[in-house]
Amino acid sequence: MDGVEMNSIPKIVILGAGYSGIMTALRLQKELNYNEADVTLVNKHDYHYFTTQLHMTAAGTDNPENNRVSILKLIDEFKIDFVKSTVVQIRPQDRKVILEDGTLSYDYLVIALGGESETFGIPGLAEYALTIRSINSTRLIREHIEYQFARFKREPHRTDLLTIVVGGAGFTGIEFVGELADRVPELCRQFDVDPSLVKIINIEAAPTVLPGFDPELVEYGMRVLERKGVTFRIGTPIRECTPDGVVVGDGEEIKAATVIWTGGVRGNRLIEEAGIETARGRVKVDEYLRAPGYDNIFVVGDCSLVFNDEGKPYPPTAQIAVQQGVNCAQNLVACIRNQALKPFRYQHKGTLASLGKGEAIGVAFGRKYRGRTAAWMKKANDLRYLFVLGGIMLVLRKGRFI
Ligand code: FAD
Repeated sequence: MDGVEMNSIPKIVILGAGYSGIMTALRLQKELNYNEADVTLVNKHDYHYFTTQLHMTAAGTDNPENNRVSILKLIDEFKIDFVKSTVVQIRPQDRKVILEDGTLSYDYLVIALGGESETFGIPGLAEYALTIRSINSTRLIREHIEYQFARFKREPHRTDLLTIVVGGAGFTGIEFVGELADRVPELCRQFDVDPSLVKIINIEAAPTVLPGFDPELVEYGMRVLERKGVTFRIGTPIRECTPDGVVVGDGEEIKAATVIWTGGVRGNRLIEEAGIETARGRVKVDEYLRAPGYDNIFVVGDCSLVFNDEGKPYPPTAQIAVQQGVNCAQNLVACIRNQALKPFRYQHKGTLASLGKGEAIGVAFGRKYRGRTAAWMKKANDLRYLFVLGGIMLVLRKGRFI
């Protein structure tokens, strides 16, 4: 074990200001006394973004400004140093983090760098498919789709320009196709395109959409989306992605100028490059959220792997990331004060998936919800997060009440 011995003020470095990282920072800011620790938060952008809403930015039904908030507006700079930079290497053996423009040393490290797309080695996906992972990636998707509509007016024989393939029918894929289907009528009006020529095809290798979700709600969700014009190809693996579209199943080619891949998440590659033990980039953390073999490295959010009582890993969600952030901060404070650490216990509060404007499905408080009620519950959940993050002012600024 890599123990910690300190005489001066301990240095805590948090990598990533997504759901888990920002929550760790905000809780430390609240819990730590003056001069108890030096806390530095590193993030590649100077804003925190709401990943759970990125399907809207990508589809173009929402403005990116609604989905991000300046980190300096959330933290107290007297208590937390914010460094806008990209982490390029983690060196646990030296207790250092290498940034693109400097080096930070730490006594305690929190790795909260989020996930990356997992392509499962499917040829061409990394090169030709777009992914929904950040504000910048969603801007690209939105612009790309609009450009294909504009191109179609110059090349009207190319209906593939109006075909959008979405690989993966998990939460991200389903929420995105729901939103995209809502956007199509507006796009068609804007670019004078016949709506009947537009195709949204959601392709999933598993035998059902939203694997593991309540079958009755899945059935309802599929009917809603099909009514909006989404075509499902279930039990159909994507074999290859090419510059012209995708090859599926036994070799059938689907021509599409836009392919969005939402089929898998892995942890950040910097972790395995650091020599920390991982399974697809995610770290099987101990009950206190520490990396195996390191007393002073905590891993939270999509980079971590936590198991339920039946030994199955919890899926990576914002909900678990936020709870881990809170627990991680408590444990950092406990480490510094030489107190007992608190095991992480995930409290699953429910799952809600949007199907586009005013429609959602989900299970919460042990009950099933669908339609407008589920959509309102999802909205309430988003508002609650804003409140936890930045109080009533942030709710009013980013709550999209109009
Ligand atoms: P993130 O929130 O992804 O944050 C990682 C941070 O690290 C980012 O700020 C990033 O800029 C920064 N970073 C990354 N690399 C570097 C680097 N090298 N240097 C510096 N900074 C770096 N979950 C739910 O619970 N409910 C939902 O409804 C839901 N919907 C979703 C919809 C979509 C479209 C997507 C994509 C995900 C959704 N999720 C949902 C999953 C959820 O968003 C993630 O599980 C959650 O964001 C993970 O939080 P995190 O803190 O691990 O990472």
